Amino acid sequence: MMCCARVHVTTQLMTITTMTEQEWDIIVIGAGIHGAGVAQAAAAHGYSVLLLEQCTSAACATSSKSSKLIHGGLRYLETGQFALVRECLRERRYLLRNAPHLVKLKPFYLPIYRSTTRRPWKITTGMLLYSWFSRRSYHRVQKKDWILLDGLNTEDLDAVFCYYDAQTDDARLTRAVLQSAVSMGAQIQYDAHVRDAEFKPTGVRVNMRCGDEDSSVEAAMVINASGPWVDELHNRLVASHPDATLSPPVSLVQGAHIILPDTITHPYYLEAPQDKRAVFVLPWELDGEQRVMLGTTETAFSGDPATVAPTEHEIDYLLEVYNHYFRRDLQRDKVLASFAGLRVLPAGEDMAFAKSRDTLFVRDDENRPRVVSILGGKLTAYRANAEKLITSLMPVLPEKDAIADTTRLMLPIVD
Ligand SMILES: Cc1cc2nc3c(=O)[nH]c(=O)nc-3n(C[C@H](O)[C@H](O)[C@H](O)COP(=O)(O)OP(=O)(O)OC[C@H]3O[C@@H](n4cnc5c(N)ncnc54)[C@H](O)[C@@H]3O)c2cc1C
Repeated sequence: MMCCARVHVTTQLMTITTMTEQEWDIIVIGAGIHGAGVAQAAAAHGYSVLLLEQCTSAACATSSKSSKLIHGGLRYLETGQFALVRECLRERRYLLRNAPHLVKLKPFYLPIYRSTTRRPWKITTGMLLYSWFSRRSYHRVQKKDWILLDGLNTEDLDAVFCYYDAQTDDARLTRAVLQSAVSMGAQIQYDAHVRDAEFKPTGVRVNMRCGDEDSSVEAAMVINASGPWVDELHNRLVASHPDATLSPPVSLVQGAHIILPDTITHPYYLEAPQDKRAVFVLPWELDGEQRVMLGTTETAFSGDPATVAPTEHEIDYLLEVYNHYFRRDLQRDKVLASFAGLRVLPAGEDMAFAKSRDTLFVRDDENRPRVVSILGGKLTAYRANAEKLITSLMPVLPEKDAIADTTRLMLPIVD
């Protein structure tokens, strides 16, 4: 148990007096990993939390369509995103300790061919940094052991690096975090589509469609964690507030994965021969069978996020990568399953979040936030982001005693 003492200035105390009349301290919109993480962090800090989700179950959007890696992101070192990589690797350590049934550390293999753009010296530099941040060593695989690498193409192969990262089941992880939030008193309402909001002197009234009925509920604070719907929903939530800060423009970029009827022992980090992008080839279980999962792509997306699906071009692209590196000739009819998710990335010249995988919190009002939206982010960093957000809002929320520390909370076993 942890107790947090806070000091409030007079104006905030007035806010608190009235805020305690609210039905809820915090309403969270969206049962993806960010909504689950915020509900967990808020409940752990002692707040009453209601989470609203438009689907009939959790993780129905991006949080079941990721590459399912709990990682620092080796490639983000190249763009100097050291703080992000370091934070994600710290979160990886917490998850390996707090959810060992859900997050598994594995050796990943990264082959360097004569044609690979990143040369061994560059990879060595990245590996050194990654090992330092993650406290896990890396090594170069001896040539005599290349034969053990799942039939990996060894023609023109210069070197193979082995480093450590973790795999998870993203949807199950999201359900486990939600379950953890519920065990601390948070409530979840599914089939609740949030439409808009009205600003009250004491907080915010959220209007929604619950099943076949219109309904509304009030809270001191609304956290919008609606993933690819986030910018559009933020602007709808604050529409009745003339001075509110609007969401910065975002781009939706789709990433696809395919599942193939092969088996491999290890995860691989490859460079697509077509355009030199990073592609992961991962062992994955589908319907109780060992399979290969492959992804991802980057395709500009517009339209309703609910309709996102892999394109034929994306499926062919991923098949080509697999056939090239594992000397196979699999055609489209062999693809067992495919799925796509949407990254929320900065758009326009005046980029609000300069680095592609940064997370941005958009507040309707800097001094007295009542609607805060979460833009971008990674599955891996959900807890750190949720804690940062809730901690930053504590001065304008009612004073509560924390009941748990999320860095130490074990995640439950869920289906
Ligand atoms: C292709 C791809 C691969 C990725 N791979 C990785 C990876 O390997 N590792 C990693 O760390 N990160 C990865 N990421 C990033 C990570 O998956 C996302 O950051 C994360 O899943 C986003 O979660 P979220 O909760 O913000 O959004 P979502 O999971 O999309 O959840 C948003 C929820 O809000 C709900 N919602 C929307 N509008 C409303 C409304 N009006 N009312 C009620 N509910 C609403 C939706 O139904 C949905 O359930 C990947 C992302 C992509 C796209």
